[in-house]
Amino acid sequence: MDCLFCKIVAGEIPARKLYEDDQVLAFHDIAPQAPLHILVIPKKHISTLLDLSAADTALAGHILFTAQRLAKDQGCAEGFRVVMNCNELGGQTVYHIHMHLMAKRQMTWPPG
Ligand code: 5GP
Ligand code: ZN
Repeated sequence: MDCLFCKIVAGEIPARKLYEDDQVLAFHDIAPQAPLHILVIPKKHISTLLDLSAADTALAGHILFTAQRLAKDQGCAEGFRVVMNCNELGGQTVYHIHMHLMAKRQMTWPPG
């Protein structure tokens, strides 16, 4: 499958990994939008949030909990943002779901 994040999972493309277990992988974003910008992805290929099934709810929770633990581990308990973009109108550019964890600057709302 020609998927960038599957290639990172497979080790075919390098990434600055922060955490890995049998279900998820977390690594630094290549074009950070904040001083700390981490992506948390499932190892299993899921193209968009619309493709999540009921069987994936534990995995989705694990992605969120991984982001929370990384935020704590990286000293960001004061505040952080998690975002998941879905499809082109939602700003998605890589079609393998990922949670953005951004921190260490003041976040504003709306994000634009
Ligand atoms: P999206 O726009 O799909 O929500 O987010 C995709 C993210 O993947 C972007 O923030 C982009 O900078 C990041 N990204 C794209 N290509 C690579 C890559 O090869 N390595 C890493 N680490 N991040 C990437
Ligand atoms: Zn993939």
